[in-house]
Amino acid sequence: MTTPMHRSHRVAGALVGSAVGDALGAPFEFGPPGRFSARFPSPARGARTEMCGSGPWEPGEFTDDTQMALLVASSLADLGNLDEADLFDRFRAWAAADPKDVGIQTRTVLDSNRPWDVAATEHFHRTGRAAGNGSLMRTTPAAIRFSRDGREATMDAARRISALTHGDPSTGEGCAIFHELMRAALDGGDPLAAIPSALEAVADEHQERWATVLAPDWTPDRATESNGAVWPTLGQAVWALRNGRDFAEALRLAIDLGGDTDTVACVAGGLAGAVFGMGAIPSRWASVVHGRVPGHGDKVWRLADLQQLAATLDGGVQQNYDPGVIPRIGPTEVLPGIWAGNLDGARYSDGDFAVISLCRLGEPFPHPVHRMAYIADNDHNADLDVMLADVLDDMKALQAEGHRLLVHCHGGASRTGLVLRGWLVREKGMSVEEATAHVAERWPHLGLWNDSFTTALQRLSARSHDDGGSQ
Ligand SMILES: [Mg+2]
Repeated sequence: MTTPMHRSHRVAGALVGSAVGDALGAPFEFGPPGRFSARFPSPARGARTEMCGSGPWEPGEFTDDTQMALLVASSLADLGNLDEADLFDRFRAWAAADPKDVGIQTRTVLDSNRPWDVAATEHFHRTGRAAGNGSLMRTTPAAIRFSRDGREATMDAARRISALTHGDPSTGEGCAIFHELMRAALDGGDPLAAIPSALEAVADEHQERWATVLAPDWTPDRATESNGAVWPTLGQAVWALRNGRDFAEALRLAIDLGGDTDTVACVAGGLAGAVFGMGAIPSRWASVVHGRVPGHGDKVWRLADLQQLAATLDGGVQQNYDPGVIPRIGPTEVLPGIWAGNLDGARYSDGDFAVISLCRLGEPFPHPVHRMAYIADNDHNADLDVMLADVLDDMKALQAEGHRLLVHCHGGASRTGLVLRGWLVREKGMSVEEATAHVAERWPHLGLWNDSFTTALQRLSARSHDDGGSQ
């Protein structure tokens, strides 16, 4: 199930994938099985997507799962290592700022006014009930941060972070297993193949119960608790990964299980994002994921912030991307209903354009319909075919709804040209040569320096002919 891919695509995929799963699952929380597929029997690629929001949650808004994950991430990124007292303080400030949702167990512990090293244990000894999934749901950032430190170190960090709010050691073992599966996935391995060795490192008294829900033949209907508990949450997430052929299908399977859908999809999304990579996350989902972290400023976290944070957690340098101001090109109507431009040509275009961004942006655009699919302007894109198909499918759906489309990248040359040419190959049945000539006549900025783009178009052309064309 693994493909060669630069580690950075997996790291970004993990963090963005978990936030996407959280936001995608939130409207279906506590619903019955099958509700997601009943509402969205096929991919919703128009202006209204599966990121539908409900109750307090805006479309694309992530919930407490990702809010807490960002607290873990920011503590690790700011301090460079795990400092439980600092992290516990951040959790407490967040809980005190009245977030829209907080797990019951997490709130009880954080509101207890007890020190970080006893609050959760005391709660567990008092109640005997502390095996919720509230520590598992937030652990993707730590799983990224400690993934380079080896199995023992990452599993140990998982247990220590879990123990801040969850006094039942079985939750810590679940987080530890998740960390080890994530370590395998980020290294380019198969996380499912890493399950036996992860289980070996689980404390003896917890092994059997974890082995049961992670067994290849385990199915969600065999859960002995609701999926608010830690065992079925990880069991279901792994089951969804095992049975999903791609990122979108893994998440659909997870959310269709019903119950604690945001958390199961968040956990599944972290693993699936690491396995399939950032390019495999549908852009209609990744583009709109966002949210605030109460008690920690007014910043709205968006896709670019999550990608940057993921790189930082993996040891990269944190830097804000500012493309500066560039002379505007476009928008110009190049194909019927499809306009092209460069970065600032698109940024300052009319708000009714459905914008397809193929490069990094710096400040977000104001356009209500905006898809971001980052393609690198070089020959090193992982999953170029998948990303191109995702973009073209979205364009077709948006055009069918009557939107004017605006495709752009930084210079409007190579990546923009790839998509315009791809449109003609797939929708008009042109050969790559015909499509290239057609675009060059109408868009003098076309750039043809990436050989991998032309090769991808030839594969697209071959597939379109196999399908008998798509007209
Ligand atoms: Mg939640």
